[in-house]
Amino acid sequence: MSFFKTARPFIIAGPCSAETKEQVMTVAEALAGMNVQLMRAGVWKPRTRPGAFEGNGAVALEWLREAKQQYNIPITIEVATPEHVEMALQNGVDVLWLGARTVVNPFQVQRLADALKGVDIPVMVKNPVSPDVDLWQGAIERMEKAGITQVAAIHRGFSGYAGAAGYRNQPNWPIPIELKRRKPDLCMIGDPSHITGDRNRVAEVAQKVLDMHFDGLMIETHPDPENAWSDAAQQVTPARLAQILAGLVVREENTHDMSGQEQLEYLRQLMDTLDAEIVDLVARRMELSGKIGAVKKGCNMTVFQPARWSEIVETRGARGAMQGLTPEFVTELYERIHHESIRIQLSVMADQPAKDSAATDSTK
Ligand code: PEP
Ligand code: MN
Repeated sequence: MSFFKTARPFIIAGPCSAETKEQVMTVAEALAGMNVQLMRAGVWKPRTRPGAFEGNGAVALEWLREAKQQYNIPITIEVATPEHVEMALQNGVDVLWLGARTVVNPFQVQRLADALKGVDIPVMVKNPVSPDVDLWQGAIERMEKAGITQVAAIHRGFSGYAGAAGYRNQPNWPIPIELKRRKPDLCMIGDPSHITGDRNRVAEVAQKVLDMHFDGLMIETHPDPENAWSDAAQQVTPARLAQILAGLVVREENTHDMSGQEQLEYLRQLMDTLDAEIVDLVARRMELSGKIGAVKKGCNMTVFQPARWSEIVETRGARGAMQGLTPEFVTELYERIHHESIRIQLSVMADQPAKDSAATDSTK
């Protein structure tokens, strides 16, 4: 059985970074007394900009080895180079994970896969920073092809424009759901710490992760989160972790076993995600309207152009029909969108700000 299936939910906790020996020992002691299956800690940290704390490297591996021996808790760290893999294996690290910034690069993932040939250690693969299910799947398959039999995927959200919920890394549930559809046996873990970037929202997203039928959670835990050397805003204390875990509602594993209420909740979460995307897309479309208005103004063209409008009704109606939508519905929807677009273009013509609209100037 996969290590990731030895508890449900499977809980991974520990600091963003291994900072000092004392910090590592303190967390390990706290976690060993809780229902936590695996302790995480960053030994080499992929930092966005130079100058930030980049991890303690080799010495932190010694602290982790000692923590494992003393408190009998398995250890996981992030590896980003073949040298990291080698040092992790030498120091008895139990599980490896590939970070979001590594998974975007197939060359690097392949180098790691090559370093892992013949070593069947459990590996967790975080989603790449961009919402690309093929890239994520590809990294997992490179691990599998190298002979790794226990692989888990970690959804840690996607970077980019802040979504409706304003998280640090926007979750995009249809992507892990699609990955799971393609690979039904894959263990799925959610990382509410990196999704939210906010310790006060970790519990709500942890519950959502379980409601999406994931197998486990990775929650950054630090004895003194406010003074953490990395990701200070999102880490929780061991005491808070215990509260979060105690408050989780673990529902049935199978969709077929879900009650009506649970199915409704599940479907509504999918719908919330789609709606957030619809609103974001409409906002982007309105932004284009503003730019089109400026071009029309520069060329002395009318805002309303009947031929273009007929073409929109026809092409969008045809596309809608292909998706099973009635022409009446699509036409009405576009009448409303077109109306707003015209309003925005008129205000551009008149040199007035398009109040209450999503139109933004590209020079903003
Ligand atoms: C981390 O887990 O601390 C980390 C760097 O995560 P990610 O790769 O998801 O950004
Ligand atoms: Mn972190």
